[in-house]
Amino acid sequence: MTRLAVPDLCLVVLVGATGSGKSSFARRHFLPTQTVSSDTCRGVVSDDEGSQEATKDAFDLVHYIVGKRLAAGRLTVVDATNVKPEDRRHLVEVAREHDVLPVAIVLDVPPEVCAERNSTRPDRAHMPAHVVPRHVRELRRGLRSLAREGFRTVHHLRGAAEIEAAEIALEP
Ligand code: ATP
Ligand code: MG
Repeated sequence: MTRLAVPDLCLVVLVGATGSGKSSFARRHFLPTQTVSSDTCRGVVSDDEGSQEATKDAFDLVHYIVGKRLAAGRLTVVDATNVKPEDRRHLVEVAREHDVLPVAIVLDVPPEVCAERNSTRPDRAHMPAHVVPRHVRELRRGLRSLAREGFRTVHHLRGAAEIEAAEIALEP
């Protein structure tokens, strides 16, 4: 078991390619109400959790909910790929506005594993083959800049076994 120390009030930003296990990780370690999912928000604004056209409105909603929760002093988890620095920038800003630490938990899973998992998901099976390798490339390129972006704590989990062994330790 690996304890991941996480402040009991913070903004946890999950970072991982599609198929890396972010939603599973969030379900296992956090309350459904603590987790703000970009796919759920796509559904809220478009009736289709897979709608790429709804991206802008979905993320407006993600950022709005995150702001409301942090203002209320509630630990919040963002379940979105968050692989690009520009995807993370606004989340860091919202955390700062509320004087809350942003924490990154990186699910660094090999592209073959993500693709294999996605192949059995009805809502992901027709995803173009280039998407997962692109996510993993973007994730790895941005790893070293996470601290510079404002993430004081970065938990980098390499591979399925490390992810499986992780436990969240909330700290005051
Ligand atoms: P997306 O970005 O597309 O939403 P995700 O990162 O949220 O993907 P999940 O939905 O959590 O990924 O997981 C993708 C698939 O892999 C699911 O079918 C899930 O059941 C499976 N999965 C997740 N973690 C593991 C694991 N440790 N071992 C085997 N399968 C896993
Ligand atoms: Mg997911």
